[in-house]
Amino acid sequence: MSQITELGYVTIGVSDLKAWENFAGQVLGLEVVPGESEAVRYLRMDYWHHRIKLVQDSSDDVLVAGLRVAGVLEFRAMAKTLSDAGIAVRIGSKAEAEANHVLEIMFLEDPNGYPIEIFHGPLVQFNLPYHPGRRMHGGYKTLGGGFAHMMQSRRAEFDDIHAFYTLLGMRGGIEYKMPIPMLPEPIELMFLHCNERQHTFAFGGPAEKRCNHLMFETEKIEDVGLAYDLVKQAGIPVIIEPGAHANDHNFSFYFKNPSGFMNEIGWGGRKPPGQSEYYAGDVFGHMPVLNTMKDFMVPA
Ligand code: FE
Repeated sequence: MSQITELGYVTIGVSDLKAWENFAGQVLGLEVVPGESEAVRYLRMDYWHHRIKLVQDSSDDVLVAGLRVAGVLEFRAMAKTLSDAGIAVRIGSKAEAEANHVLEIMFLEDPNGYPIEIFHGPLVQFNLPYHPGRRMHGGYKTLGGGFAHMMQSRRAEFDDIHAFYTLLGMRGGIEYKMPIPMLPEPIELMFLHCNERQHTFAFGGPAEKRCNHLMFETEKIEDVGLAYDLVKQAGIPVIIEPGAHANDHNFSFYFKNPSGFMNEIGWGGRKPPGQSEYYAGDVFGHMPVLNTMKDFMVPA
């Protein structure tokens, strides 16, 4: 069976490119690289050509998620699996693949209507080591788990989302039933994995933006502390204070990026446990900062 191996990249539409450049370099510690035009910047965090593409756009949201398959055979098998299941897929031209810095690419939408690109063969630049935009104790963990996990809002039923991503070779399900004081029912959250990162995609409830948060995992705990200090010094709102998640065990915190959704930086994640579990709360911490949290509430 053909299988997604990682979240390879995302494209983010940003209204304030200058603010994002500064945030990416000085707060996140990413390498900012010029794009093909003044409206494009690439962000690097390892040897890949890029992990994030920023494009000038009023959406202030994730526009596309790029999911990797292992190679040409898996790419063709995936295209067949999807078309056999009645899912509309368009195979990109050679020029479209080159423009995206991959060998082959296909375009489709998930049941939420969110654009997905499935690709193989990213451009990896071993002659250009990642050069962080600011000091770091170590790097970001990307080998074996993709560059990030992403929580997205939900516009379809959990069952339909689960069926679609199962077709892509992802596993998972509901992992949290989280009681929220002002809501009658606990919020259910779905988590999906495809590699050693405990989850790659998560889905909450309906919300205006596609992206609730994008999470990077550091190699050293000191980089979570350093990022926290830099966020505070820059006057950037912390949305969820440091704590440890019950599902991925990351020690992390959440803060607002210039597009108004959240970045999470954490350390110490575990692999998927291999069997389903659910949780009604975290290990410790992760206290929401109430005056900012309301913007990110995910209604049931
Ligand atoms: Fe997260």
